This record gives sequence, C-alpha cells and structure tokens, in this order.
Amino acid sequence: MAKHPATKKSLGQHFLKDGNMIRKIADAIPAGPSDQVIEIGPGAGALTKMLAERFDDVTAIEIDNRMADFLEENIPQVKIIRQDVLKTDWEHIVKSEKPVHVVGNLPYYITSQILFGLLEHRSMLTSAILMMQKEVAERIVAEPHTKAYGILSVQTQLMSSPEILFDVAPQVFYPPPNVQSAVLKLTFNKGPLACTDENLKTVVRMAFNQRRKKLSNSLKGLTETLPVNMFDFSLRAEAFEPETFEKLTVQLERMGVLV
Ligand code: SAM
Repeated sequence: MAKHPATKKSLGQHFLKDGNMIRKIADAIPAGPSDQVIEIGPGAGALTKMLAERFDDVTAIEIDNRMADFLEENIPQVKIIRQDVLKTDWEHIVKSEKPVHVVGNLPYYITSQILFGLLEHRSMLTSAILMMQKEVAERIVAEPHTKAYGILSVQTQLMSSPEILFDVAPQVFYPPPNVQSAVLKLTFNKGPLACTDENLKTVVRMAFNQRRKKLSNSLKGLTETLPVNMFDFSLRAEAFEPETFEKLTVQLERMGVLV
C-alpha cells in the first residue's frame, strides 16, 4: 500500500506493524465469510486489509478523515463510516439478518466508553475481539475479592462472556504505546438481564464509588426497605458476585425503590 498520513497521538493512533499479530487477531474472529464484520478505528488499514480478504461484508468506523481518505483509495471494498464511534448509531449500521462481529485495535483513551457502548447494543452483536490496555482487560475478567474487580467486571460479566485471549507487547505497534496490551474476546451469549441495564448501573456505581465502605453505607437510601437477611450488607462491594448485584437490583425494582 502507499504511504499513509502521519500518526496522531491525540487520536490514540498506535498502528499494528507485525503481520503475525494481525493474523492472530483476524484468526480470533469467530465469523463465517458472509457474516458482518465491523472494525472500530481502522487507521491506515493494517487489520482492515486482512478483514477484506477474509470477509465479504466489512464496515469500518474511523474519526480521522485523512485515514478514511487513504482507506477508500486503498481498500475500496470496505465501507468506511467517518464518525466518532461513541456517536455511532449501531441500529443504522448493523444488518440484523446475519451475525455481527466487532473487531478493533482500540484507541485506548476511550476504551471503557467503547466497551459500555458495545454492551448497550449487545442484543445486535455476536462477538467482539478488542485490543486494549492489559490492565483494563484484567479488570474486565477480574473475580470478586480482588483489587481489579469493579464496575467494568460486574457489567461486562453480566452482559457477555469475556475472555483474555493473549497479551501483546508494545513492539508490535508503531509508535509503541507505553503500556502492555491484551486482546479480549467478548461473546454476547447472555440474553437480557432480569432488571433494567440502567438500574443495574446505578446500584453497581453506588456500591463501587465507595468501595472501601460496607454496602450498608455505600447503598444507604436504597437497601433499608429490603427484608433483613436477604443480602449481607455488612460486606463490601467487592464481595458481591455479579449475579448478586443483578438479584439485588431486581429486588429493589420489585419493592419500587428503583423504577
Ligand atoms: N486498526 C489500526 C491498526 O491496528 O493499525 C489503527 C488502530 S489505532 C490504535 C486506533 C484508531 O482509532 C485510529 O485510527 C484512530 O484514528 C481511531 N479513533 C480514535 N478515536 C476514535 C473515535 N472516537 N471514533 C472512531 N475512531 C477513532
């Protein structure tokens, strides 16, 4: 391919330069050749080129018009959407008649927002293969009673099945990021929650915003109406399994504390 425009640090542009790593990421996408594949942040197309060789229906969302121009010229078979991925109207892009797989070497400055956006639209998606900071991937798969366990772990584990596939060293990118990376796979196989997503988020955020306090303190105002012995609020947030947060939210909805 021709020489691409210079990378911009402000857009988290750390491009993949290692052919083996690019192949490893493409191999991890559990898609058939005619499934829809949506790439977040194609940049100069290191991964996009291989996606276009393997899949018939590839759409890529890129905020940087210079890169979008370059891609349209060099990989014309891919549909480029020039947009901030956080403002993407997924209903508009997703083709509901086939499985939809998301893939991306993410811009790290907005990893969590992208993740929450995908979780919100999970009913339309089959899987996501995402390169991110290793530390964030570890928080997502963290178990209760650990320091890394928190809002990201509870929400992602209730709304998908997350799995770290492999770690990635800075040298496979140019310019290299100053953190370690990992590729995470999300499988959207969980179905809807028994409570609303919004109410679950409210409870989990309240609990972890004061994670060192007992739940009876951090959830003050919510829990007093619940029958005693239903949940142990003398514990801290990190002791509650994701499913316990869901059960608690369902109870709060039943009691009319959350609507
Ligand atoms: N996929 C390419 C690769 O692996 O070589 C580039 C990955 S680079 C880490 C992240 C890409 O996301 C960049 O191309 C950047 O311009 C793009 N990006 C940054 N912020 C974005 C946003 N809000 N919406 C869409 N794309 C964004």
